[in-house]
Amino acid sequence: MTKSSSEPPRRLGEFAMIAKFFAPLSADAEGAFGLADDVATLQVPDGQELVAKVDAIIEGVHFLRTDPAGLIAKKALRVNLSDLAAKGAVPVGYLLSLSIAPWCDDAWLASFAAGLGEDQARFRLSLLGGDTTATPGPLTLSVTALGSIPKGRTVRRAGAVPGDCVFVTGTIGDAGAGLAVLKGEGALLTAYERDDLIGRYRLPEPRLSLGQLLPALASASLDVSDGLVADLGHIAEVSHVRVVIEAARVPLSRPCAKLWGGDAILRAITAGDDYEVAFTAPASARARIAEAAEKSGVPVHEIGRVEEGEGIVLLDVKGQPISVARPGYTHF
Ligand code: ADP
Ligand code: MG
Repeated sequence: MTKSSSEPPRRLGEFAMIAKFFAPLSADAEGAFGLADDVATLQVPDGQELVAKVDAIIEGVHFLRTDPAGLIAKKALRVNLSDLAAKGAVPVGYLLSLSIAPWCDDAWLASFAAGLGEDQARFRLSLLGGDTTATPGPLTLSVTALGSIPKGRTVRRAGAVPGDCVFVTGTIGDAGAGLAVLKGEGALLTAYERDDLIGRYRLPEPRLSLGQLLPALASASLDVSDGLVADLGHIAEVSHVRVVIEAARVPLSRPCAKLWGGDAILRAITAGDDYEVAFTAPASARARIAEAAEKSGVPVHEIGRVEEGEGIVLLDVKGQPISVARPGYTHF
């Protein structure tokens, strides 16, 4: 809880903190040695390789101090799991680097650890280790997620070829719309619609069940974190192709469409934080992709095609190009 007085927050010492809040989260991982050694060891089954990803989230940039601690924990973990999902990997474990701000106390850490525990059980992975420091600055969390995948089957960004189709999971723009609602937009929405969008911002849903089917289907894939246009732009760049998106086919949720009206598509495809998966695949995979969507319970929509050329082209219903001023979020 945040303290406003000069009274220092109630906080355990570093090692007691690790033993109390974090060691229990490593209980299922033999190689974590109860977080009582310097390192963790990790086995990957024969024929598999490790997939590694780190992502930091920072108070004031990715979340607010007043957000519930359990949700901050889950978001820190899930943004990484989303990358594993897009690559086709199965999560195995994670490392946590925690730079604790002056305002964080034991009650906050207890809620934070409880949030991690819930998501560990849900996504079946364990805490393997980490680092704990104090900072005079904003609370900073860095999660390194580790997954496994059959050797050489990681779905890369480079791999899209002319003739492929472009697909996206779920709906696009909801998280950005949720953030807009938190900033005061959304007077015309119902309370239920506002909460729905805010929930999509605070708690992304890594598309792991669909992702694990992608190595057999997709030619290129990534998770959408900076905005659909910006992220598909990465596929276009490293695959040396042009990605054509038909704006009208981009799936929007009802509350998002209602919030942004005529601007909805343009705002949705340039808002960040979706954590949906965008991927390309040959047209011959369409039926199997529909089956994979059904089997995993994750909706998938076809939104465009891959052509020879470069960059991203967005088309309106008449097939005319629409210009996009700012394709997505960048930190600098
Ligand atoms: P070192 O002195 O080598 O930096 P530490 O004393 O920081 O090691 O860490 C001791 C053990 O606790 C290690 O196994 C480390 O991985 C684990 N650990 C420290 N902080 C965290 C954390 N926030 N989450 C998970 N494990 C942690
Ligand atoms: Mg050490």
